[in-house]
Amino acid sequence: MKRASHRILIIGGVAAGPAAAAKAKRLNPNLDITLFEQGEFISYGTCSMPYYVGDVIKNHEDIITFSPEKFEKEKGCVVKTKHRVVEIKPHRRRIVVHNLHDDKFEECEYDQLLIAAGASARVPNKEWLKASNVFTIKHLSDSIAVKNYIAQKNPRKVTIIGGGYIGMEMAEAFSERHLDVTVIHKAGHPMNTLESETQAIVLDEIKRHGVQFIGSSEIQTIAIEGGAAKSVKTQHQSIEADLIVLALGFEPNTELAKNIKIRCGRFGGILTDQFLRTNIEHIYAAGACTEIKNIVSNKPIYLPLGNIANKMGWIAGENIAGGHAEFRGVVRTTAVKVFDLEVASVGLSSVEAEASGFKVVIESIRAYSHSRAYPGSKPVFVKLIIDGLSKRLIGANLVGEKGAALRADVLSVAIQNKMTIRQIAEMDLMYTPPLAPVWDPILVAANQAAKKLDKKILN
Ligand SMILES: Cc1cc2nc3c(=O)[nH]c(=O)nc-3n(C[C@H](O)[C@H](O)[C@H](O)COP(=O)(O)OP(=O)(O)OC[C@H]3O[C@@H](n4cnc5c(N)ncnc54)[C@H](O)[C@@H]3O)c2cc1C
Repeated sequence: MKRASHRILIIGGVAAGPAAAAKAKRLNPNLDITLFEQGEFISYGTCSMPYYVGDVIKNHEDIITFSPEKFEKEKGCVVKTKHRVVEIKPHRRRIVVHNLHDDKFEECEYDQLLIAAGASARVPNKEWLKASNVFTIKHLSDSIAVKNYIAQKNPRKVTIIGGGYIGMEMAEAFSERHLDVTVIHKAGHPMNTLESETQAIVLDEIKRHGVQFIGSSEIQTIAIEGGAAKSVKTQHQSIEADLIVLALGFEPNTELAKNIKIRCGRFGGILTDQFLRTNIEHIYAAGACTEIKNIVSNKPIYLPLGNIANKMGWIAGENIAGGHAEFRGVVRTTAVKVFDLEVASVGLSSVEAEASGFKVVIESIRAYSHSRAYPGSKPVFVKLIIDGLSKRLIGANLVGEKGAALRADVLSVAIQNKMTIRQIAEMDLMYTPPLAPVWDPILVAANQAAKKLDKKILN
């Protein structure tokens, strides 16, 4: 392939890759940008897949933002789907690409390369995926396969292995389809990074909706007969299943990077500087293949989330186009809908805070989402995690049927701006009976915490 000037190659076409391509091209229309994606689809809402499987979203096209053709036309970048990058040759500034359409290999030259190769679903035994009814939920093609399987085979019993946020979302999705759902989870309660009170509320909620939760259980094997899985075996029992979903978390795709000695961190993700440059010249990395900094603990974390991938993609795109944008890290703001609940967490958990050396002070309250006199108000549980020395908020959990998730965003901003509990208690939050009570749950929690801090003698 002939070498062009300002040639940008991007590996990965879901969130970080397309965001970077679009941003770079917008900033510098003269760039020659090519995006390689090994799958069939690009630029889709991975996060909407549970709702597609649950049939809340009917068509998979509705969660695709850009088809390859539309992206090429509107963003002016070349998109090559079914093209897997198999090698990076940094000394020659080339990549080797396997065209999966015709099984041919070609070398392409770059001036700047972005690795936005994302993550893969963790699968303890790849053989299990050969069974016709065992799935992961990572790519759009996985979700389409699960939905087709339900339509064609009419399964009754679904077992989800893993009780993290995707396990919870899929439990809800399958319940929407009126299937019997069992979740097997290693720990005693679902969603390990949440506070124990929040975990207990989540567990009650899934049980209330008929989901069987088998905690403190580890999968040993999946029994497969005649090409289909029949049951899941844990150390304690065997659970019959017509459909099995592995929701055991993600691991960063770093093989290409490791092969050329790009530095990776203790969670296995690519390490970059704040400009998203790797340690190899002309190579950037962004999204779920990287580790990022938690700005509360100042420690690296692995947090493969869609909003972060998009943001990193933009920053990498700007820098590839000659800019100097910085990615400073994250507070860690997450939320998940679990049936009727909004479950949100920001910053550090109390366990992480203690492990990071903070003198942790906790305040937990329940208050109402809006004025009780106005119909439909619901309790919101708020737990604040405070650094007792600086009196700054460093983490929080919020759970409730209404108004929990967006309140977590307010606390995320407070944490990011290093606000003390007193400053949070003084925040000017809105009040109107149908939307919020005169004392917002955040203010109630912060006022309680402020009183506690005033009394507390810390050594
Ligand atoms: C079911 C589900 C629900 C989710 N819900 C949420 C949510 O509610 N909120 C949230 O913030 N996040 C959510 N996420 C996470 C979010 O979707 C991911 O973090 C995000 O997609 C990461 O984007 P990315 O572009 O970095 O990586 P990926 O989405 O992993 O995309 C990387 C792409 O690179 C391709 N690729 C890899 N290697 C190569 C190669 N060598 N050659 C060519 N192509 C390659 C892969 O095929 C893949 O398509 C969810 C994820 C899942 C699976």
